[in-house]
Amino acid sequence: MQKVKVSHKGRKCKFLHCKHVLSIYNHEEYCHIHLSQFPHVYKFKISK
Ligand SMILES: [Zn+2]
Repeated sequence: MQKVKVSHKGRKCKFLHCKHVLSIYNHEEYCHIHLSQFPHVYKFKISK
């Protein structure tokens, strides 16, 4: 068995009205579309 950290299945993007379901490999709270729309959020997260 591979040891891969995954998130809960079926999480949805936290952006208002966004219906994107996040991948279990996406540990962010937004879908990739909204992550790219908010680079400051993304930068903040990866800078830590
Ligand atoms: Zn989204």
